[in-house]
Amino acid sequence: MTESDRLETLRQAIAACRICRDQPLKGEADRLPHEPRPVAVLSTTAKILIAGQAPGLRVHDSGQAFNDASGNRLRQWLGVDRDQFYDADNFAIVPMGFCFPGYDAHGSDLPPRRECAPLWRQTVLDSMPQIELVLAIGHYAQKWHLGGRAAKSMTDTARDWRVHMGVNRGLPVLPLPHPSWRNTSWLKKNPWFETALVPVLQQRVKALTS
Ligand code: SF4
Repeated sequence: MTESDRLETLRQAIAACRICRDQPLKGEADRLPHEPRPVAVLSTTAKILIAGQAPGLRVHDSGQAFNDASGNRLRQWLGVDRDQFYDADNFAIVPMGFCFPGYDAHGSDLPPRRECAPLWRQTVLDSMPQIELVLAIGHYAQKWHLGGRAAKSMTDTARDWRVHMGVNRGLPVLPLPHPSWRNTSWLKKNPWFETALVPVLQQRVKALTS
């Protein structure tokens, strides 16, 4: 079986996953309130892994990762257009939870489903050994990819980005905030992100993409 065949088998297994609907970890009350629709881009050739949080409703509806305002801002940070972004030779996109988790009582997206990463994440990473850089977006991805080296707050973790560009779990990790409009005030309060981190991010992306 080739690497591509193996990845395709994994892709199909993820696409068929219904665990959060059929066997939610925390019981009936925590059942995913809609049909699962896993959204991820696996690749045998991409050198950059975008480790996001979980799809929002718009991504759930379209089935295309970061096909929303957050994606537009992320593409701007990366310095790529949509064609480059959606080219699986450039980026693999693997969120911490593959399915839209629904909303909380305040209308905000719920955290990534806790069933997903233990079930799929290491297998997915093992299937893409060519990855050279992880872009860890938000606290959940940073905690997973940096382990005990992630700070308690996303801001502190991102502020230490030069340290985290060193080797973690065998891969350099660049921690980023979520590109959501909800983080616009965070960006204003942390200008170093766009003046210091984004230029380095764009250099790395240029060097690792076609
Ligand atoms: S979030 Fe992950 S574990 Fe849950 S149904 Fe979707 S693919 Fe399966």
